[in-house]
Amino acid sequence: MQRNDLKPATIAAHAAGAVDLASGGVVPPIQPSTTFVRDRDYQLVNEDNVYLRSHNDAVRLGEEILSRLEGAEDTQLFPSGMAAIAAVFRTVPNGGAVIVQSGIYWGTTKWIRDFCSRRDITLHEVDASDTGALQALCAGLKAQLVFVETPSNPWLKTVDIIAAKACAESCGAFLVVDSTAATPLLTQPLALGADLVMHSATKVINGHSDVLGGVLSTRVRTPVWEAICMDRNEAGAVMGPFEAWLLVRSMRTLPLRVEKMCANAMAVAEFLAAHPEVEEVLYPGLPSHEGHDLAGRQMQGGYGFLMSFLVKGGRAAALAVAGRLNLFHRATSLGGVESLVEHRHTIEPHTGIPENLLRISIGIEDIDDLIADLSQALQGG
Ligand code: PLP
Repeated sequence: MQRNDLKPATIAAHAAGAVDLASGGVVPPIQPSTTFVRDRDYQLVNEDNVYLRSHNDAVRLGEEILSRLEGAEDTQLFPSGMAAIAAVFRTVPNGGAVIVQSGIYWGTTKWIRDFCSRRDITLHEVDASDTGALQALCAGLKAQLVFVETPSNPWLKTVDIIAAKACAESCGAFLVVDSTAATPLLTQPLALGADLVMHSATKVINGHSDVLGGVLSTRVRTPVWEAICMDRNEAGAVMGPFEAWLLVRSMRTLPLRVEKMCANAMAVAEFLAAHPEVEEVLYPGLPSHEGHDLAGRQMQGGYGFLMSFLVKGGRAAALAVAGRLNLFHRATSLGGVESLVEHRHTIEPHTGIPENLLRISIGIEDIDDLIADLSQALQGG
């Protein structure tokens, strides 16, 4: 058992102290078995393991590492970020009410709208980065759940988690924070009062664009948490052992990757902000960003790897810039070691996203190469 006062970089590098006790390997093994054997007296050979839907060592290890990074009492891994979000919303009773931040990841909004209408749940959408608007909405309501995403994707709005918790309490709800863009290292939502923190592990936690996964961590075990665990176990939204093993392997370098991505992103944001072909840069690390002071208090060690920028000249100019990029892959998603660019209006044309907005996810490449690529793409028109 490892000391539990170790720093995040040490916990991650050592996979929370896991080794393979059977072989002596310093790398924990993959156990793909779906079922686990009993002896002739019908006793389990290993009391922890009966059936894969509920029991797998690599899944447990991934959960332990994430609990320690998040300061959580417990963590559950899911087969995708959306499966983790769905597990939370399924705890809301039919006829209940939820408050959800507007302008967040479109896939989340789309699924929640559909789910709430099917289940007769009243959905209130609000710009939760405006604390006054969130307070005003919560003051007059009873609700089960407040869901925020900070920094938000793709607007990069910053939500005050301490204030959001007070708002949630005022309407009898628990607070869930999608902290995907803040990573488990830059912000600790549970320490700021959130009841649950959620991540798409598909993004920076895995970081190599080759695993789909989701995370929920809880500050303390509550009846809602027990309902989530029971639902995951019995409805079967579990991560497979190979994915969990890859995730554990990837998390060994999470702190290094996040540090480099944040440093690269800050340099890219400053370059773009000074560029004559760029109308605006949305990145909480820039002093011009409306959430900069809050992000400075709420994020330690950097402002993340995600940003959006508006290209002068409208849709055609933005698509032309994206088309001229050589290093940035034109692809959806974020948080991988390789930089990506996406024209969000192509994906969500009806949400009010500006046609000249490009969202970029900054990887761990050499910063000079990234800036040279952006520079030639912006000048090439
Ligand atoms: N939350 C955020 C902020 C995201 O960006 C995404 C996916 O892009 C999700 C949740 C959903 O995660 P997944 O794609 O792993 O289901």
